[in-house]
Amino acid sequence: MLFSTLPTTIDAIDPRRWETFEPYYTELQQRDLNEVNTRQWLTDWSKLSELVWESGAMIYVKKSLDTTDTEKEQAFLDYVNEVAPKARVADQALKERLLTLDVQDDDMVLPLRNMRNEADLFRKENVPLQTELAKLDNEYDKETGGLKTEWDGEEKNLVQLGLYLKDPDRTVRERAWKTMMDLWLGSRETLNKLYMDMLGMRCQMSDNANLPDYRAYAFRDRGRFAYTPEDCFTFHEAIETAVTPAARRIYEKKRKALKLEVLRPWDVDVDTSNTPPLKPYEGQAELIQGSLNILNSVDPELGRYFATMAEEELLDLETRPGKALGGYCTTLHVRKRPFIFMNGVGIHDNVQTLLHEAGHAFHVFETAELPLIWQTDYPMEFAEVASMSMEMLAAPYLTKENGGFYTASESARARIEHLEGLILFLPYMAVVDAFQHWVYTNPEAALNAANCDATWDALWDRFMSGVDWSGFEDARMTGWHRKPHIFSSPFYYIEYGMAQVGALQVWRNSLTDRAGAIEAYRQALALGGTKTLPELFAAAGAEFRFDTAMLTELVELVERTIEELEAQI
Ligand SMILES: [Zn+2]
Repeated sequence: MLFSTLPTTIDAIDPRRWETFEPYYTELQQRDLNEVNTRQWLTDWSKLSELVWESGAMIYVKKSLDTTDTEKEQAFLDYVNEVAPKARVADQALKERLLTLDVQDDDMVLPLRNMRNEADLFRKENVPLQTELAKLDNEYDKETGGLKTEWDGEEKNLVQLGLYLKDPDRTVRERAWKTMMDLWLGSRETLNKLYMDMLGMRCQMSDNANLPDYRAYAFRDRGRFAYTPEDCFTFHEAIETAVTPAARRIYEKKRKALKLEVLRPWDVDVDTSNTPPLKPYEGQAELIQGSLNILNSVDPELGRYFATMAEEELLDLETRPGKALGGYCTTLHVRKRPFIFMNGVGIHDNVQTLLHEAGHAFHVFETAELPLIWQTDYPMEFAEVASMSMEMLAAPYLTKENGGFYTASESARARIEHLEGLILFLPYMAVVDAFQHWVYTNPEAALNAANCDATWDALWDRFMSGVDWSGFEDARMTGWHRKPHIFSSPFYYIEYGMAQVGALQVWRNSLTDRAGAIEAYRQALALGGTKTLPELFAAAGAEFRFDTAMLTELVELVERTIEELEAQI
Protein backbone atom coordinates (compact mmCIF):
# COMPACT_ATOMS: atom_id res chain seq x y z
CA MET A 1 0.00 0.00 0.00
CA LEU A 2 1.57 3.21 -1.22
CA PHE A 3 -0.41 5.30 1.24
CA SER A 4 1.27 3.70 4.22
CA THR A 5 4.32 5.73 3.13
CA LEU A 6 2.43 9.06 3.07
CA PRO A 7 4.39 11.48 5.30
CA THR A 8 2.62 12.45 8.50
CA THR A 9 4.27 15.88 8.70
CA ILE A 10 5.47 18.32 6.05
CA ASP A 11 8.91 18.57 7.69
CA ALA A 12 10.53 15.81 5.67
CA ILE A 13 9.07 16.53 2.23
CA ASP A 14 10.02 18.87 -0.60
CA PRO A 15 6.75 20.78 -1.10
CA ARG A 16 8.11 22.70 -4.12
CA ARG A 17 8.17 19.65 -6.38
CA TRP A 18 5.07 18.10 -7.90
CA GLU A 19 6.87 14.73 -7.83
CA THR A 20 6.48 14.77 -4.04
CA PHE A 21 2.71 14.36 -4.38
CA GLU A 22 2.18 12.95 -7.84
CA PRO A 23 2.55 9.18 -7.13
CA TYR A 24 -0.21 9.38 -4.51
CA TYR A 25 -2.59 11.13 -6.90
CA THR A 26 -1.83 8.54 -9.56
CA GLU A 27 -2.48 5.69 -7.16
CA LEU A 28 -5.85 7.21 -6.16
CA GLN A 29 -6.76 7.63 -9.80
CA GLN A 30 -5.92 4.00 -10.59
CA ARG A 31 -7.08 2.20 -7.47
CA ASP A 32 -9.96 -0.24 -7.95
CA LEU A 33 -12.99 1.05 -6.12
CA ASN A 34 -15.97 -0.83 -4.77
CA GLU A 35 -18.63 -0.30 -2.12
CA VAL A 36 -16.34 -1.54 0.61
CA ASN A 37 -13.20 0.49 0.03
CA THR A 38 -14.58 3.87 -1.09
CA ARG A 39 -14.38 5.34 2.40
CA GLN A 40 -10.71 4.32 2.67
CA TRP A 41 -10.09 5.94 -0.72
CA LEU A 42 -11.73 9.17 0.51
CA THR A 43 -9.67 9.06 3.70
CA ASP A 44 -6.42 8.65 1.75
CA TRP A 45 -7.32 11.45 -0.64
CA SER A 46 -8.19 13.64 2.33
CA LYS A 47 -4.82 12.95 4.03
CA LEU A 48 -3.01 13.73 0.78
CA SER A 49 -4.95 17.00 0.42
CA GLU A 50 -4.02 17.95 3.97
CA LEU A 51 -0.38 17.52 3.09
CA VAL A 52 -0.68 19.58 -0.11
CA TRP A 53 -2.63 22.38 1.60
CA GLU A 54 -0.41 22.60 4.66
CA SER A 55 2.63 22.73 2.38
CA GLY A 56 1.11 25.67 0.55
CA ALA A 57 0.09 27.39 3.79
CA MET A 58 3.54 27.07 5.37
CA ILE A 59 5.32 28.25 2.21
CA TYR A 60 3.08 31.31 2.25
CA VAL A 61 3.64 31.93 5.97
CA LYS A 62 7.41 31.71 5.61
CA LYS A 63 7.39 34.09 2.66
CA SER A 64 5.23 36.65 4.44
CA LEU A 65 7.41 36.50 7.57
CA ASP A 66 10.45 37.48 5.51
CA THR A 67 9.80 39.11 2.16
CA THR A 68 13.50 39.91 1.68
CA ASP A 69 14.48 36.22 1.50
CA THR A 70 14.53 35.40 -2.23
CA GLU A 71 14.70 31.67 -1.59
CA LYS A 72 11.44 31.77 0.33
CA GLU A 73 9.88 33.77 -2.48
CA GLN A 74 11.13 31.24 -5.01
CA ALA A 75 9.65 28.39 -2.97
CA PHE A 76 6.33 30.23 -3.02
CA LEU A 77 6.51 30.77 -6.79
CA ASP A 78 7.44 27.13 -7.37
CA TYR A 79 4.45 26.02 -5.34
CA VAL A 80 2.04 28.46 -7.01
CA ASN A 81 3.24 27.81 -10.57
CA GLU A 82 4.12 24.16 -10.36
CA VAL A 83 2.39 22.30 -7.54
CA ALA A 84 -0.92 24.14 -7.05
CA PRO A 85 -2.17 24.05 -10.69
CA LYS A 86 -1.25 20.37 -11.06
CA ALA A 87 -2.92 19.56 -7.78
CA ARG A 88 -6.07 21.35 -8.99
CA VAL A 89 -6.17 19.31 -12.18
CA ALA A 90 -5.51 16.07 -10.29
CA ASP A 91 -8.19 16.94 -7.73
CA GLN A 92 -10.67 17.69 -10.53
CA ALA A 93 -10.03 14.23 -12.01
CA LEU A 94 -10.59 12.58 -8.62
CA LYS A 95 -13.73 14.64 -8.09
CA GLU A 96 -15.11 13.43 -11.40
CA ARG A 97 -14.32 9.89 -10.40
CA LEU A 98 -16.00 10.34 -7.02
CA LEU A 99 -19.15 11.74 -8.61
CA THR A 100 -19.64 8.55 -10.64
CA LEU A 101 -19.66 6.50 -7.41
CA ASP A 102 -22.66 5.94 -5.25
CA VAL A 103 -21.40 7.46 -2.00
CA GLN A 104 -24.05 7.35 0.72
CA ASP A 105 -21.99 8.56 3.70
CA ASP A 106 -24.10 11.00 5.70
CA ASP A 107 -21.16 13.24 6.46
CA MET A 108 -20.35 13.61 2.75
CA VAL A 109 -23.74 14.99 1.64
CA LEU A 110 -22.75 18.65 1.63
CA PRO A 111 -19.16 18.14 0.43
CA LEU A 112 -20.60 16.12 -2.49
CA ARG A 113 -23.13 18.85 -3.23
CA ASN A 114 -20.26 21.36 -3.41
CA MET A 115 -18.15 19.14 -5.63
CA ARG A 116 -21.05 18.46 -7.99
CA ASN A 117 -21.67 22.19 -8.25
CA GLU A 118 -17.99 22.88 -9.01
CA ALA A 119 -17.83 20.12 -11.58
CA ASP A 120 -21.03 21.33 -13.31
CA LEU A 121 -19.78 24.89 -13.48
CA PHE A 122 -16.37 23.94 -14.79
CA ARG A 123 -15.66 24.92 -18.43
CA LYS A 124 -12.29 24.40 -20.04
CA GLU A 125 -12.75 27.62 -22.06
CA ASN A 126 -13.01 29.58 -18.80
CA VAL A 127 -9.58 28.56 -17.53
CA PRO A 128 -7.61 31.00 -19.76
CA LEU A 129 -10.18 33.74 -18.97
CA GLN A 130 -9.54 33.20 -15.26
CA THR A 131 -5.80 33.50 -15.81
CA GLU A 132 -6.39 36.69 -17.80
CA LEU A 133 -8.63 38.08 -15.05
CA ALA A 134 -5.95 37.34 -12.46
CA LYS A 135 -3.53 39.41 -14.53
CA LEU A 136 -5.97 42.33 -14.74
CA ASP A 137 -6.49 42.04 -11.00
CA ASN A 138 -2.75 42.37 -10.58
CA GLU A 139 -2.90 45.46 -12.84
CA TYR A 140 -5.38 47.01 -10.41
CA ASP A 141 -3.04 46.31 -7.50
CA LYS A 142 -0.10 47.77 -9.38
CA GLU A 143 -2.00 50.88 -10.49
CA THR A 144 -3.45 51.67 -7.05
CA GLY A 145 -0.42 50.47 -5.07
CA GLY A 146 1.75 52.73 -7.21
CA LEU A 147 -0.24 55.90 -6.46
CA LYS A 148 2.01 58.25 -4.53
CA THR A 149 2.82 61.89 -4.22
CA GLU A 150 5.06 64.40 -2.51
CA TRP A 151 3.87 65.37 0.98
CA ASP A 152 5.96 67.87 2.93
CA GLY A 153 9.01 66.88 0.94
CA GLU A 154 8.49 63.13 1.39
CA GLU A 155 7.01 60.59 -0.96
CA LYS A 156 3.80 59.06 0.44
CA ASN A 157 1.45 56.39 -0.86
CA LEU A 158 -2.29 56.07 -0.19
CA VAL A 159 -1.82 54.05 3.01
CA GLN A 160 0.59 56.60 4.43
CA LEU A 161 -1.61 59.53 3.41
CA GLY A 162 -4.61 57.78 4.97
CA LEU A 163 -2.99 58.08 8.41
CA TYR A 164 -3.45 61.86 8.22
CA LEU A 165 -7.23 61.41 8.05
CA LYS A 166 -7.03 60.84 11.81
CA ASP A 167 -5.11 64.05 12.43
CA PRO A 168 -6.87 66.30 14.97
CA ASP A 169 -5.89 69.32 12.85
CA ARG A 170 -8.72 69.71 10.35
CA THR A 171 -6.62 71.50 7.73
CA VAL A 172 -4.16 68.58 7.69
CA ARG A 173 -6.81 65.95 7.16
CA GLU A 174 -8.60 68.04 4.55
CA ARG A 175 -5.36 68.41 2.62
CA ALA A 176 -4.65 64.67 2.95
CA TRP A 177 -8.13 63.71 1.78
CA LYS A 178 -7.97 66.02 -1.25
CA THR A 179 -4.50 64.74 -2.11
CA MET A 180 -5.76 61.16 -2.00
CA MET A 181 -8.79 61.93 -4.15
CA ASP A 182 -6.59 63.72 -6.71
CA LEU A 183 -4.43 60.60 -6.93
CA TRP A 184 -7.46 58.36 -7.50
CA LEU A 185 -8.98 60.70 -10.07
CA GLY A 186 -5.67 60.77 -11.92
CA SER A 187 -6.20 57.03 -12.54
CA ARG A 188 -9.85 57.40 -13.45
CA GLU A 189 -9.57 56.48 -17.15
CA THR A 190 -7.17 53.59 -16.47
CA LEU A 191 -9.44 52.09 -13.82
CA ASN A 192 -12.55 52.53 -15.98
CA LYS A 193 -10.88 50.68 -18.82
CA LEU A 194 -9.62 47.93 -16.53
CA TYR A 195 -13.08 47.34 -15.11
CA MET A 196 -14.73 47.27 -18.53
CA ASP A 197 -12.19 44.67 -19.70
CA MET A 198 -12.96 42.57 -16.64
CA LEU A 199 -16.69 42.96 -17.17
CA GLY A 200 -16.41 41.70 -20.76
CA MET A 201 -14.48 38.61 -19.71
CA ARG A 202 -16.84 37.83 -16.86
CA CYS A 203 -19.84 38.02 -19.23
CA GLN A 204 -17.98 35.64 -21.53
CA MET A 205 -17.49 33.21 -18.66
CA SER A 206 -21.19 33.10 -17.81
CA ASP A 207 -22.04 32.68 -21.51
CA ASN A 208 -19.64 29.75 -21.68
CA ALA A 209 -21.37 28.19 -18.67
CA ASN A 210 -24.80 28.70 -20.31
CA LEU A 211 -26.00 30.98 -17.54
CA PRO A 212 -28.20 34.06 -18.12
CA ASP A 213 -25.70 36.53 -16.63
CA TYR A 214 -22.51 36.77 -14.59
CA ARG A 215 -24.48 37.27 -11.39
CA ALA A 216 -25.96 33.80 -11.85
CA TYR A 217 -22.43 32.50 -12.43
CA ALA A 218 -20.98 34.26 -9.37
CA PHE A 219 -23.73 32.94 -7.08
CA ARG A 220 -22.98 29.37 -8.22
CA ASP A 221 -19.22 29.92 -8.10
CA ARG A 222 -19.45 31.18 -4.51
CA GLY A 223 -21.62 28.22 -3.50
CA ARG A 224 -24.55 30.41 -2.51
CA PHE A 225 -27.17 27.71 -2.02
CA ALA A 226 -28.89 29.35 0.93
CA TYR A 227 -29.88 32.70 -0.55
CA THR A 228 -30.85 34.37 -3.81
CA PRO A 229 -30.40 37.85 -5.31
CA GLU A 230 -33.92 38.57 -4.01
CA ASP A 231 -32.72 37.88 -0.45
CA CYS A 232 -29.87 40.32 -1.00
CA PHE A 233 -32.37 43.00 -2.02
CA THR A 234 -34.39 42.32 1.13
CA PHE A 235 -31.19 42.81 3.14
CA HIS A 236 -30.47 46.10 1.32
CA GLU A 237 -33.97 47.40 2.07
CA ALA A 238 -33.70 46.42 5.71
CA ILE A 239 -30.40 48.30 5.94
CA GLU A 240 -31.92 51.38 4.32
CA THR A 241 -34.81 51.33 6.78
CA ALA A 242 -33.11 50.27 10.00
CA VAL A 243 -29.41 51.07 9.75
CA THR A 244 -29.01 54.17 7.56
CA PRO A 245 -30.88 56.37 10.08
CA ALA A 246 -28.69 55.01 12.91
CA ALA A 247 -25.57 55.76 10.88
CA ARG A 248 -26.86 59.30 10.38
CA ARG A 249 -27.25 59.66 14.15
CA ILE A 250 -23.62 58.60 14.65
CA TYR A 251 -22.40 61.16 12.14
CA GLU A 252 -24.57 63.79 13.77
CA LYS A 253 -23.01 63.03 17.16
CA LYS A 254 -19.58 63.30 15.58
CA ARG A 255 -20.45 66.61 13.98
CA LYS A 256 -21.55 68.04 17.32
CA ALA A 257 -18.50 66.69 19.14
CA LEU A 258 -16.23 68.30 16.56
CA LYS A 259 -18.29 71.51 16.78
CA LEU A 260 -18.73 71.68 13.01
CA GLU A 261 -21.53 73.06 10.93
CA VAL A 262 -21.36 70.19 8.47
CA LEU A 263 -19.40 66.97 8.50
CA ARG A 264 -17.16 66.64 5.46
CA PRO A 265 -15.59 63.43 4.08
CA TRP A 266 -12.27 64.27 5.78
CA ASP A 267 -13.95 64.44 9.20
CA VAL A 268 -15.29 60.90 9.50
CA ASP A 269 -12.14 59.07 10.62
CA VAL A 270 -10.99 61.43 13.35
CA ASP A 271 -11.37 60.50 17.02
CA THR A 272 -13.65 62.94 18.83
CA SER A 273 -12.63 62.14 22.41
CA ASN A 274 -9.76 64.66 22.51
CA THR A 275 -7.59 62.13 24.29
CA PRO A 276 -4.42 60.48 23.01
CA PRO A 277 -4.80 57.15 21.17
CA LEU A 278 -5.02 54.01 23.29
CA LYS A 279 -1.71 52.24 23.91
CA PRO A 280 -2.76 48.83 25.17
CA TYR A 281 0.55 46.96 25.20
CA GLU A 282 4.21 46.93 24.32
CA GLY A 283 5.66 43.94 22.49
CA GLN A 284 4.29 40.55 21.49
CA ALA A 285 4.59 38.97 24.97
CA GLU A 286 2.29 41.59 26.52
CA LEU A 287 -0.21 41.30 23.68
CA ILE A 288 -0.31 37.52 24.08
CA GLN A 289 -0.65 37.64 27.87
CA GLY A 290 -3.44 40.23 27.84
CA SER A 291 -5.33 38.42 25.08
CA LEU A 292 -4.91 35.10 26.85
CA ASN A 293 -6.43 36.56 30.03
CA ILE A 294 -9.36 37.96 28.05
CA LEU A 295 -9.98 34.70 26.18
CA ASN A 296 -9.71 32.70 29.41
CA SER A 297 -12.49 34.87 30.78
CA VAL A 298 -14.61 34.20 27.70
CA ASP A 299 -14.12 30.44 28.05
CA PRO A 300 -11.29 28.47 29.69
CA GLU A 301 -11.21 25.89 26.87
CA LEU A 302 -10.88 28.63 24.23
CA GLY A 303 -8.19 30.19 26.40
CA ARG A 304 -6.35 26.85 26.34
CA TYR A 305 -6.50 26.77 22.54
CA PHE A 306 -4.88 30.19 22.45
CA ALA A 307 -2.23 29.15 25.01
CA THR A 308 -1.42 26.16 22.80
CA MET A 309 -0.83 28.51 19.88
CA ALA A 310 1.58 30.55 21.99
CA GLU A 311 3.42 27.44 23.23
CA GLU A 312 3.72 25.98 19.72
CA GLU A 313 4.85 29.31 18.24
CA LEU A 314 1.83 29.68 15.99
CA LEU A 315 1.60 33.42 16.61
CA ASP A 316 3.72 36.04 14.86
CA LEU A 317 2.14 39.31 15.88
CA GLU A 318 4.67 42.16 15.81
CA THR A 319 5.60 44.23 12.80
CA ARG A 320 9.25 44.32 11.74
CA PRO A 321 11.25 45.28 8.65
CA GLY A 322 10.82 42.82 5.80
CA LYS A 323 7.56 41.37 7.07
CA ALA A 324 4.61 41.46 4.66
CA LEU A 325 1.72 43.83 5.43
CA GLY A 326 -1.68 42.84 6.75
CA GLY A 327 -2.92 40.09 9.00
CA TYR A 328 -4.46 36.65 8.56
CA CYS A 329 -5.20 33.31 10.16
CA THR A 330 -4.34 30.26 8.09
CA THR A 331 -4.97 26.54 8.64
CA LEU A 332 -2.25 23.91 8.94
CA HIS A 333 -4.36 20.91 7.98
CA VAL A 334 -1.96 18.08 8.91
CA ARG A 335 -1.17 19.48 12.34
CA LYS A 336 -4.81 20.55 12.82
CA ARG A 337 -3.58 23.90 14.01
CA PRO A 338 -4.09 27.54 12.99
CA PHE A 339 -1.36 30.14 12.48
CA ILE A 340 -1.95 33.86 13.10
CA PHE A 341 0.08 36.49 11.29
CA MET A 342 -0.18 40.20 12.15
CA ASN A 343 1.68 43.51 12.10
CA GLY A 344 1.15 44.80 15.63
CA VAL A 345 2.50 48.19 16.68
CA GLY A 346 0.86 48.47 20.10
CA ILE A 347 -2.46 50.10 19.19
CA HIS A 348 -6.06 49.09 19.91
CA ASP A 349 -6.64 48.00 16.30
CA ASN A 350 -4.09 45.24 16.88
CA VAL A 351 -5.98 43.94 19.94
CA GLN A 352 -9.21 43.96 17.93
CA THR A 353 -7.55 42.15 15.01
CA LEU A 354 -6.05 39.49 17.26
CA LEU A 355 -9.41 38.76 18.89
CA HIS A 356 -10.94 38.52 15.41
CA GLU A 357 -8.25 36.15 14.14
CA ALA A 358 -8.53 34.14 17.37
CA GLY A 359 -12.17 33.45 16.41
CA HIS A 360 -10.96 32.03 13.08
CA ALA A 361 -8.30 30.03 14.93
CA PHE A 362 -10.94 28.51 17.26
CA HIS A 363 -12.81 27.32 14.17
CA VAL A 364 -9.72 25.28 13.26
CA PHE A 365 -9.42 23.79 16.77
CA GLU A 366 -13.12 22.98 17.00
CA THR A 367 -13.16 21.17 13.62
CA ALA A 368 -9.97 19.19 14.26
CA GLU A 369 -11.92 15.98 14.93
CA LEU A 370 -13.79 15.97 11.61
CA PRO A 371 -12.47 12.98 9.65
CA LEU A 372 -12.32 14.37 6.09
CA ILE A 373 -10.79 17.63 4.92
CA TRP A 374 -13.84 18.71 2.89
CA GLN A 375 -15.92 18.66 6.06
CA THR A 376 -13.80 21.47 7.49
CA ASP A 377 -14.61 23.65 4.46
CA TYR A 378 -17.17 25.98 6.05
CA PRO A 379 -18.91 28.80 4.13
CA MET A 380 -17.37 32.29 4.32
CA GLU A 381 -20.62 33.74 5.64
CA PHE A 382 -20.16 31.56 8.72
CA ALA A 383 -16.36 31.71 9.01
CA GLU A 384 -16.77 35.41 9.74
CA VAL A 385 -19.45 34.71 12.34
CA ALA A 386 -16.75 32.79 14.23
CA SER A 387 -14.35 35.74 14.16
CA MET A 388 -16.79 38.65 14.53
CA SER A 389 -18.58 36.93 17.43
CA MET A 390 -15.27 36.58 19.24
CA GLU A 391 -14.71 40.35 18.99
CA MET A 392 -18.11 40.86 20.61
CA LEU A 393 -17.85 38.10 23.23
CA ALA A 394 -14.42 39.31 24.36
CA ALA A 395 -15.44 42.97 24.66
CA PRO A 396 -16.58 42.86 28.32
CA TYR A 397 -13.12 41.60 29.37
CA LEU A 398 -10.97 44.30 27.79
CA THR A 399 -10.49 45.97 31.15
CA LYS A 400 -7.40 45.51 33.35
CA GLU A 401 -9.74 44.31 36.07
CA ASN A 402 -10.40 41.26 33.91
CA GLY A 403 -6.78 40.78 32.92
CA GLY A 404 -7.08 42.90 29.79
CA PHE A 405 -5.50 46.16 28.71
CA TYR A 406 -7.66 49.12 29.71
CA THR A 407 -9.22 51.20 32.42
CA ALA A 408 -13.02 51.13 32.42
CA SER A 409 -13.15 54.42 30.57
CA GLU A 410 -10.59 53.38 27.94
CA SER A 411 -12.42 50.12 27.38
CA ALA A 412 -15.69 51.99 26.92
CA ARG A 413 -14.05 54.20 24.29
CA ALA A 414 -12.72 51.20 22.38
CA ARG A 415 -16.04 49.43 22.51
CA ILE A 416 -18.00 52.47 21.33
CA GLU A 417 -15.72 52.83 18.33
CA HIS A 418 -16.18 49.16 17.52
CA LEU A 419 -19.98 49.27 17.81
CA GLU A 420 -20.23 52.48 15.77
CA GLY A 421 -18.05 50.86 13.13
CA LEU A 422 -20.49 47.94 12.86
CA ILE A 423 -23.38 50.32 12.16
CA LEU A 424 -21.45 52.47 9.68
CA PHE A 425 -20.24 49.42 7.77
CA LEU A 426 -23.64 48.00 6.79
CA PRO A 427 -24.93 50.87 4.60
CA TYR A 428 -21.59 51.00 2.80
CA MET A 429 -21.73 47.23 2.28
CA ALA A 430 -25.20 47.65 0.77
CA VAL A 431 -23.88 50.22 -1.74
CA VAL A 432 -21.04 47.90 -2.78
CA ASP A 433 -23.37 44.91 -3.17
CA ALA A 434 -26.28 46.69 -4.88
CA PHE A 435 -23.86 48.34 -7.33
CA GLN A 436 -22.64 44.95 -8.51
CA HIS A 437 -26.17 43.53 -8.86
CA TRP A 438 -26.84 46.41 -11.23
CA VAL A 439 -23.57 46.06 -13.18
CA TYR A 440 -23.82 42.35 -13.87
CA THR A 441 -27.52 42.37 -14.78
CA ASN A 442 -27.09 45.46 -17.02
CA PRO A 443 -23.74 44.74 -18.66
CA GLU A 444 -24.51 46.73 -21.82
CA ALA A 445 -25.21 49.91 -19.88
CA ALA A 446 -22.37 49.23 -17.45
CA LEU A 447 -19.83 49.18 -20.27
CA ASN A 448 -20.20 52.96 -20.23
CA ALA A 449 -18.36 54.17 -17.12
CA ALA A 450 -20.62 57.22 -16.82
CA ASN A 451 -23.53 54.88 -16.11
CA CYS A 452 -21.52 53.11 -13.40
CA ASP A 453 -20.74 56.48 -11.83
CA ALA A 454 -24.40 57.50 -11.91
CA THR A 455 -25.52 54.20 -10.38
CA TRP A 456 -22.95 54.40 -7.58
CA ASP A 457 -24.00 57.98 -6.90
CA ALA A 458 -27.69 57.11 -6.69
CA LEU A 459 -26.95 54.23 -4.31
CA TRP A 460 -24.73 56.49 -2.20
CA ASP A 461 -27.68 58.86 -1.91
CA ARG A 462 -29.97 56.03 -0.92
CA PHE A 463 -27.82 54.42 1.79
CA MET A 464 -25.26 56.94 2.96
CA SER A 465 -26.24 60.23 4.53
CA GLY A 466 -24.86 62.59 7.11
CA VAL A 467 -21.67 63.61 5.29
CA ASP A 468 -21.52 66.56 2.91
CA TRP A 469 -19.59 65.83 -0.30
CA SER A 470 -20.60 68.98 -2.19
CA GLY A 471 -17.87 70.31 -4.43
CA PHE A 472 -16.37 66.80 -4.72
CA GLU A 473 -18.92 65.14 -6.98
CA ASP A 474 -16.32 63.42 -9.14
CA ALA A 475 -14.69 61.83 -6.11
CA ARG A 476 -18.09 60.74 -4.82
CA MET A 477 -19.36 59.10 -8.01
CA THR A 478 -16.09 57.19 -8.60
CA GLY A 479 -16.19 55.63 -5.12
CA TRP A 480 -16.45 52.19 -6.74
CA HIS A 481 -12.85 52.57 -7.95
CA ARG A 482 -11.71 52.62 -4.33
CA LYS A 483 -13.15 49.23 -3.33
CA PRO A 484 -10.73 46.50 -4.48
CA HIS A 485 -13.35 43.73 -4.03
CA ILE A 486 -15.39 45.25 -6.86
CA PHE A 487 -12.47 44.64 -9.19
CA SER A 488 -10.93 41.45 -7.83
CA SER A 489 -13.72 39.44 -6.17
CA PRO A 490 -17.11 40.32 -7.67
CA PHE A 491 -20.05 39.93 -5.28
CA TYR A 492 -17.74 38.96 -2.43
CA TYR A 493 -18.72 41.44 0.27
CA ILE A 494 -22.25 40.75 1.47
CA GLU A 495 -20.74 37.79 3.38
CA TYR A 496 -19.35 40.27 5.90
CA GLY A 497 -22.75 41.89 6.33
CA MET A 498 -24.49 38.55 6.86
CA ALA A 499 -21.82 37.40 9.31
CA GLN A 500 -22.19 40.64 11.24
CA VAL A 501 -25.90 40.02 11.66
CA GLY A 502 -25.07 36.50 12.89
CA ALA A 503 -22.39 37.72 15.29
CA LEU A 504 -24.67 40.41 16.73
CA GLN A 505 -27.24 37.71 17.52
CA VAL A 506 -24.62 35.53 19.24
CA TRP A 507 -23.64 38.55 21.31
CA ARG A 508 -27.30 39.42 22.06
CA ASN A 509 -27.84 35.89 23.34
CA SER A 510 -24.75 36.14 25.52
CA LEU A 511 -26.17 39.16 27.35
CA THR A 512 -28.88 37.01 28.94
CA ASP A 513 -27.25 33.56 28.86
CA ARG A 514 -23.50 33.80 28.59
CA ALA A 515 -22.67 30.15 29.09
CA GLY A 516 -25.43 29.00 26.73
CA ALA A 517 -24.34 31.42 23.98
CA ILE A 518 -20.72 30.32 24.16
CA GLU A 519 -21.68 26.66 24.24
CA ALA A 520 -23.81 27.13 21.09
CA TYR A 521 -21.03 29.14 19.43
CA ARG A 522 -18.52 26.35 20.00
CA GLN A 523 -20.90 23.61 18.89
CA ALA A 524 -21.71 25.51 15.70
CA LEU A 525 -18.02 25.95 14.92
CA ALA A 526 -17.43 22.23 15.48
CA LEU A 527 -19.90 21.40 12.69
CA GLY A 528 -17.44 22.75 10.12
CA GLY A 529 -18.98 22.49 6.66
CA THR A 530 -21.20 19.50 7.38
CA LYS A 531 -24.38 21.59 7.74
CA THR A 532 -26.03 24.21 5.54
CA LEU A 533 -25.53 27.89 6.21
CA PRO A 534 -28.95 28.38 7.88
CA GLU A 535 -28.29 25.28 10.00
CA LEU A 536 -24.91 26.64 11.11
CA PHE A 537 -26.51 29.95 12.07
CA ALA A 538 -29.23 28.09 13.95
CA ALA A 539 -26.68 25.97 15.80
CA ALA A 540 -24.97 29.19 16.93
CA GLY A 541 -28.32 30.44 18.23
CA ALA A 542 -28.86 32.86 15.35
CA GLU A 543 -31.45 33.13 12.61
CA PHE A 544 -30.33 33.33 8.98
CA ARG A 545 -32.61 36.29 8.39
CA PHE A 546 -31.84 39.75 7.10
CA ASP A 547 -35.14 41.62 7.23
CA THR A 548 -36.11 44.94 8.75
CA ALA A 549 -37.44 43.45 12.00
CA MET A 550 -34.16 41.63 12.63
CA LEU A 551 -31.98 44.64 11.88
CA THR A 552 -34.19 47.01 13.86
CA GLU A 553 -33.85 44.80 16.95
CA LEU A 554 -30.07 44.54 16.62
CA VAL A 555 -29.50 48.23 15.86
CA GLU A 556 -31.57 49.20 18.91
CA LEU A 557 -29.47 46.92 21.07
CA VAL A 558 -26.23 48.38 19.70
CA GLU A 559 -27.42 51.97 20.18
CA ARG A 560 -28.57 51.21 23.72
CA THR A 561 -25.19 49.66 24.53
CA ILE A 562 -23.33 52.65 23.09
CA GLU A 563 -25.37 54.91 25.37
CA GLU A 564 -24.52 52.81 28.41
CA LEU A 565 -20.84 52.86 27.49
CA GLU A 566 -20.88 56.63 26.97
CA ALA A 567 -21.93 56.99 30.59
CA GLN A 568 -18.74 55.13 31.62
CA ILE A 569 -16.32 57.51 29.94
ZN1 LIG B 1 -12.03 37.42 9.21
